[in-house]
Amino acid sequence: MTVTTEAVVIGGGVMGTSILYNLVSRGVQAPVLLERDTLGSGSTGRSSGAIRMHYSTEVNARLAWESFHIFKDFAGIVGGDPVEFVKTGYLIIVPEDAVDGIKKNVTMQKSVGIDTDLVTYKEAKELAPAFHLDESEAFAWEPESGHGDPSGTALAYSMRARDLGATVVLESPAQEIEIEGGKVKAVVTSGERYETPIAVVATGPWSSTFLGKHGIDLPLKATRHEVFFLRRRLDLVPSHPGGGDMTNLIYFRPEGADLTLVGNGNHEDPADPEAYNPRSTMGFVEEIWERIARRIPGIEESELFTGYAGLYTSTPDLHPVVDKVDGIEGLYICTGFSGHGFKEAPAVGIALSELILEGEAKLLDITPLRMTRFAEGDLNTTTYDFKVIA
Ligand SMILES: Cc1cc2nc3c(=O)[nH]c(=O)nc-3n(C[C@H](O)[C@H](O)[C@H](O)COP(=O)(O)OP(=O)(O)OC[C@H]3O[C@@H](n4cnc5c(N)ncnc54)[C@H](O)[C@@H]3O)c2cc1C
Repeated sequence: MTVTTEAVVIGGGVMGTSILYNLVSRGVQAPVLLERDTLGSGSTGRSSGAIRMHYSTEVNARLAWESFHIFKDFAGIVGGDPVEFVKTGYLIIVPEDAVDGIKKNVTMQKSVGIDTDLVTYKEAKELAPAFHLDESEAFAWEPESGHGDPSGTALAYSMRARDLGATVVLESPAQEIEIEGGKVKAVVTSGERYETPIAVVATGPWSSTFLGKHGIDLPLKATRHEVFFLRRRLDLVPSHPGGGDMTNLIYFRPEGADLTLVGNGNHEDPADPEAYNPRSTMGFVEEIWERIARRIPGIEESELFTGYAGLYTSTPDLHPVVDKVDGIEGLYICTGFSGHGFKEAPAVGIALSELILEGEAKLLDITPLRMTRFAEGDLNTTTYDFKVIA
């Protein structure tokens, strides 16, 4: 059967659903989202949900900052369900050799308008009394940051998009994008053919394979990342803010009354999205538990609650690709968000829908995310490598 629509979004993670909502709310008629499995079944459903703005490049900082406003008032701005934003504050801790880097980052972030500042050792101690801190370290504090629910956000976007006339089709992998005369003609699944002038590929870790089938070769790599939760003894560690710890190469945040989520974005194990191990491994738990115990004394007495692994989709400069495909009218790519995608999804959805409908992103300059940067050798460079922080 053939269905005719103005746009097809492929992939029902937080990116695809944000794009779908932003297209339909800007007047695109009856757009369709195709998801191979269920909403949030890719990286989104395994995301740690951190919402903070500390980045070393302006494009990432801006995407996170523009998104932050939406997370804080999702029900008011997008409508529908809230996304459970929880404010915890976020402390970035770096070792002595990164002091210049963190200073440059904070200066750039403040020029963007982000609510952040460098704090002294004494101030950091007051903000995070549970932490063991060293006077040689440097600290940046984001008072308003926290975390949210990634799957809940994808669901909220898709429900609002459906209210406005979009269709979400689950368990329907896109098999092929038909391209005729240099233009997108249709997106095909096993049961349907969706005739459309616009196709957006937001397929997360599956992007390299899917794009490769269409002759688009981008340096995208799926890598496996573990996180786990500890149930703290509240007499030893009553509470703590979220944080990124570059000294011990970990990130963490509280969850509910007594859990702590901990992860590390630096383990870059290449993985096959069809056959990776989604379970926790004791080697990782032991190593990372030891590291967080250096930062939060007393957490070694916790109970291991649960753990799992998910996939990042990474590019060589750890920045995503958000772009149109030159030479194929109507084809757009939105992928490669490594550990940043959840907190950037609201702004990415706006910027990409502007690119599609108005020919350029108005919210912010997304040229640093163009797909040709790899071939041009013009990668994004950072003042200090903060990839450890999800
Ligand atoms: C362990 C972990 C912790 C993280 N922590 C954070 C964090 O704290 N903060 C943060 O901002 N980010 C974090 N991230 C990153 C963030 O989760 C991702 O960047 C984001 O979810 C990417 O969203 P996406 O929509 O691009 O991809 P995905 O969520 O993977 O969605 C892609 C979707 O496409 C579908 N699909 C694939 N192929 C097809 C096809 N052919 N047809 C139809 N559908 C298809 C998949 O089933 C999937 O649902 C974390 C990620 C992991 C794994």
